Parts: sequence; C-alpha cells; structure tokens
Amino acid sequence: MPDRIPVAVLGATGAVGQRFVQLLEHHPWFRVAALAASQRRAGQRYADACRWALDGDMPPSVRDLALRPATAEALGCPLAFSALPSDVAGALEEDLARGGVVVSSNAASHRMDPDVPILIPEINAAHLALLDAQRRGRGWTGLIVTTANCASAPLAIVLQPLSDAFGVRHVHVVTLQALSGAGYPGLAALDMVDNILPYVAGEEAKLEREPRRILGRVVGTEVQPAALVISAQCNRVAVRNGHTACLTIGLERRAAAEAVIETLQGYRSQVAGLGLPSAPQPLIVVRREDDRPQPRRDRDAGGGMAVTVGRIQPCAVNDIKMVVLAHNTVRGAAGGAILNAELLAAEGYLEGWR
Ligand code: NAP
Repeated sequence: MPDRIPVAVLGATGAVGQRFVQLLEHHPWFRVAALAASQRRAGQRYADACRWALDGDMPPSVRDLALRPATAEALGCPLAFSALPSDVAGALEEDLARGGVVVSSNAASHRMDPDVPILIPEINAAHLALLDAQRRGRGWTGLIVTTANCASAPLAIVLQPLSDAFGVRHVHVVTLQALSGAGYPGLAALDMVDNILPYVAGEEAKLEREPRRILGRVVGTEVQPAALVISAQCNRVAVRNGHTACLTIGLERRAAAEAVIETLQGYRSQVAGLGLPSAPQPLIVVRREDDRPQPRRDRDAGGGMAVTVGRIQPCAVNDIKMVVLAHNTVRGAAGGAILNAELLAAEGYLEGWR
C-alpha cells in the first residue's frame, strides 16, 4: 500500500503508544514512519527501547526504527499521534501544529482549550468547525484535535443518544478503571492485587467536565456546554484492560428501560457512510444477559471501538441505570485518536496526502 500517509507516534514506548503501533500495523490509510519517546531514548532502536506489553509480537516493520526527537523537522510526517504525558504534551504538540503537523492527541493538555475539539466522530463531528478559528487565531498551518479521557469517551457516547431522545438532566457515575489506564509499568502489583483504589488522580473532575463539552453545541468559535450535571466517583481495579462505569441517569422525559434499549441500539453514528476504517458497526452494543458487560468478554467488541451497555433497568433514585464498558487504550485512547485522524483525512485536513 504505497500511498498510505506516513505518520508519527509520540510516546511510542508507553501503554497508549504501543497500542497505536499495534492498531496502525495494518491500517489502510496510515503507515508508521516515525516513532518518538522521551529525549533520553532518542537514537535507540524501538525494539531495544520498548518493553512490549501487548499480546502478540511487536510488529516487525517498527522494530528497527530509531526513536526520533519530537519535532516537526525530525519526525517529517504530516500527521502525528500523541500519547505523551500531559505535563509535556502541551508545548510539544503546539510546536508540531505550528510546524504544519496535524496532531491527534490523547493527552489532556489541550482538551479544555476553547478552540480545540474533544472529538468523538460518531457523536460530535460538527466540532471540527472549531479548527478554522484554531488555525486563524494561533497562526498554525497544522492543528490539534484531542480524544476524550478514557472514561469520559464511553460515557459521552451513551449520553448522546439518550440526550437526543429524552434529554439528560443529571448523571451519577461510579467507574471501575483498568490498570493499563495508569500507563506502563504503572501501579505496583502489591498495591493492586486483592485491592481497589478509590482514587484515580484528576479523573473525577474530567468526567464531570468533558462530557458536557463533548455534548455541547458549537456557537460561533466556541462550544456551548450541554446543561447536564455529572457527579463522578472513580476507582482503580485489578483488571488489565477495559473501564467499566455504573451510571444512574435523571432524564428530562421519563422513559421505560425498553425505550432506552431501543434508543441505544438504534443510534445512527454521525459518520456512518464515510467509510472510516476504525468506526465500529454498531457503535453501541446492548447486552441483555444479567451478567454483562464484563471486561474480559466485552472489551474487544467492535475491535475494541464499540461501547457495550448492559444492566439497563429503572432506577429508584433517578430514572434509569445501566453499566457501560469500553476498552480504555482502544476506544478510550489510541483507537479513538486514529478514528479522529480518519475523519480529518476524510474531511480534507490532510490535503495533498489523501
Ligand atoms: P505511559 O505508559 O507512561 O507512556 C508515556 C510515554 O511518553 C512513553 O513513551 C515515554 O517515553 C514518553 N515520555 C515521557 N516523558 C516524555 C518527555 N518528557 N518527552 C517526550 N516523551 C516522553 O503513559 P500512557 O498511559 O501511555 O499515557 C499517555 C498519554 O495518554 C497520557 O497523556 C495519558 O493521560 C493519555 N491517556 C492514557 C490512557 C490509558 O488508558 N493509558 C487513556 C487515555 C489517555 P519513555 O519510555 O522514554 O519514558
């Protein structure tokens, strides 16, 4: 496939960076041409610098790539996927966008910038409209789009159809988040085996804030956040991959469980028909068994890009309750960022390359 767009992966040795490398191996539009990690690894072979932590082998095509500095010149690619820690991503991603690179980021650094979309193509493709203002305002020839936080993404995906159909007033969410969400090597086994940590740094604030922006409307050059209120409690559990969220939802218009099921199952993605290679079909999988969704059995639905919902029942406190599950490093990170880049390519933001 000689005409694939050359792409760079930043943070390529980490939990999300490895997932990018894995998901891009056979991508029909993109090919990995450059990898970067921290400065101390520049020049090392990827196979020597990276302790591969995913199932299956490191793709042979990347083993001999030398890790490059994370600058537009050194990377030499029109598109970069960022899996950088948030404390370093901010300035590095801006430099790349200034240098003409389209940056599809997983980091939180720019998520709440008024001119940067938190993009989930299936539910808020219209937020691409922010990019004109971003480029004009900042004088960039490149651009930055971000994914949502790994637990916010499935939450927003489920709330969008419910909001369209019934209106959503408020949500209480309790998460059970996988170990890979803390990066690699991440948390100490002695802290996690036989245990639950009732704290994931910064996560509750993200869950209470990001879905409101994702579900908001673009007005002029900014997003007007959706009016719903969210209360979140986040826990780290000893699961390798797959974030679970237990929700109770207060609706504007009451709805029976069966109507909620039909609404979720019937949701039509905003990018259906664009032929984006990573868009799952269906986006939302509803399970009716009493004991689903489960991380081990459901996280790979739709190649890890679908969101699985079960336990949909009336709630004695709010209107409806349910359990939502998604793969945190696929839908919640690398896969989501790849889908965002596919939408950018389809909409002409990688002109000359596709
Ligand atoms: P991680 O496993 O700790 O990996 C961090 C990566 O960044 C490594 O490749 C590391 O390279 C590189 N790095 C560290 N310091 C750097 C620096 N100063 N300059 C350039 N590169 C540097 O973290 P992760 O879990 O993959 O997360 C990456 C990003 O994605 C974070 O912003 C995180 O919040 C976000 N995210 C993660 C998830 C998830 O489920 N894990 C989900 C959504 C979003 P070295 O090997 O050289 O140190």
